[in-house]
Amino acid sequence: MGRTSKDKRDVYYRLAKENGWRARSAFKLLQLDEEFQLFQGVTRAVDLCAAPGSWSQVLSQKIGGQGSGHVVAVDLQAMAPLPGVIQIQGDITQLSTAKEIIQHFEGCPADLVVCDGAPDVTGLHDVDEYMQAQLLLAALNIATHVLKPGGCFVAKIFRGRDVTLLYSQLRVFFSSVLCAKPRSSRNSSIEAFAVCRGYDPPEGFVADLSRPLLDHSYDFNQLDGPTRIIVPFVTCGDLSAYDSDRSYPLELEDGSGYKYTPPTQPPISPPYQEACTLKKKGQLAKEIRPQDCPISQVDVVPQ
Ligand code: SAM
Repeated sequence: MGRTSKDKRDVYYRLAKENGWRARSAFKLLQLDEEFQLFQGVTRAVDLCAAPGSWSQVLSQKIGGQGSGHVVAVDLQAMAPLPGVIQIQGDITQLSTAKEIIQHFEGCPADLVVCDGAPDVTGLHDVDEYMQAQLLLAALNIATHVLKPGGCFVAKIFRGRDVTLLYSQLRVFFSSVLCAKPRSSRNSSIEAFAVCRGYDPPEGFVADLSRPLLDHSYDFNQLDGPTRIIVPFVTCGDLSAYDSDRSYPLELEDGSGYKYTPPTQPPISPPYQEACTLKKKGQLAKEIRPQDCPISQVDVVPQ
């Protein structure tokens, strides 16, 4: 891909670089905030699945401006440091990571927990939706330990076949749950965000990391009566905002001209790093196994 073709195809990718955000996802959180004023009164927040860190950048700017904010960012991958952001490298579905996060908020709970987690998609929709749901539930489990009453939880959700079960689960813990789709999230993607406000766990609920929040014995299609929650669907981001499914010319309307901007923060230890090094040394050639060779080139063992 050329240095400008992605800029042309994805206007939010390009705007993110121009505005110093590490990823285009920053616009999703900013547009969610425009609609729901997520950061109002927030001084302590958790950013789950945070790398490369654009949501943490937004959080630290919006709530940490006075130096009083407190953001804890967690991801499987290493993330370049950000001022005022405490980083934890770990898997949010693991007990050890959850415990490490929770200890940062002991005695002083968080106002906001966000999770933009996404598994590596396989293309098998059921598997991808299941994995995404597991990430969301792991994030919710952590949120039940760190959120203060009335706090807010925002998490990426795939609007798949069984999403109603997730809404029902979220509704148990929050007085308001809705599904929001920012303009910067492509229409072609099943991604949306569950915006859960007013943390209010059921009476007698004791947060327990060892207890799964999803009861797998549910028959998803049998949810009805009070368990069948239909949550409002809200699009957010100004209607004049750029459409993430369109390609835009390199020169946008303001006439300021196009200038290529390099990414704000290149990945610090991407999984493809070793392949790049080998390629530079000309050592990336695949090992040829006998079974991959045409039959004429393989030594035929005489009978
Ligand atoms: N919000 C981020 C930003 O603005 O820069 C982008 C997040 S990216 C879409 C999804 C992230 O989820 C990836 O960095 C990935 O490593 C992380 N992730 C996926 N599964 C995870 C897990 N089990 N624990 C922690 N992080 C996870």
